[in-house]
Amino acid sequence: MRRINIAIDGPSAAGKSTIAKRVAKELGYVHLDTGAMYRCIGLKCRLTAIDLDDEAMMKEMLSQTEIELTADGKVFLDGKDVSMDIRTEESSMWASNVSTRSVVRSDLVSRQQKMALAKGFVMDGRDIGTVVLKDAELKIFQTASVEARAKRRFLENQAKGMEADYEAIYRDIERRDYQDTHREHSPLSKAEDAILIDTSDLSIDEVTAKILKLAYEAMEQ
Ligand code: C5P
Repeated sequence: MRRINIAIDGPSAAGKSTIAKRVAKELGYVHLDTGAMYRCIGLKCRLTAIDLDDEAMMKEMLSQTEIELTADGKVFLDGKDVSMDIRTEESSMWASNVSTRSVVRSDLVSRQQKMALAKGFVMDGRDIGTVVLKDAELKIFQTASVEARAKRRFLENQAKGMEADYEAIYRDIERRDYQDTHREHSPLSKAEDAILIDTSDLSIDEVTAKILKLAYEAMEQ
């Protein structure tokens, strides 16, 4: 069976990372959570109070930024573990804001493309099937209703002992959906050749099984 790359795109809180992680583990592939990379840049911009409109400064900052995603799911920004810091609702908005800048997108897209050259990647994000891995052998567009996504994020935050306000999470998801689908550069959209999976009424096991079946089919081609 040949090694392939799998692209999983979809809106915020649709469970992409959870599924991508599971699929990668089953296949012995590497999971790359591209959202975590945008979150790192958002965090760095927030902490350094850099002017997002100053392209030269942004380029300079990007050239001096190191992002490391470890196999056990940890995220390091310039050598510091920021796994928790990048998951707050405020960080989500910052990630969405910086992701509208083309200077940020081109830098991160090229890092992601270089990593995936070796094949055997499950990459999740917003533009993987449409921009980063246009030639991915399997493309999934994973979505769910706003209600289902808000409920999941709420329970997830509660379980992690983080602040959990359902109404605020619901509004935040709606706002990010709007921003991600209306931005000028690489707006979230389903690639023509992506397979749509609505996970509103499916369990993690069911979605994982569906994607694995498609992956084995694609590997055999
Ligand atoms: O997937 P996650 O919610 O962690 O992503 C955080 C933000 O990063 C998203 O709201 C989106 O704006 C941005 N993003 C992106 N392209 C990707 C992954 C994430 O624009 N490939």
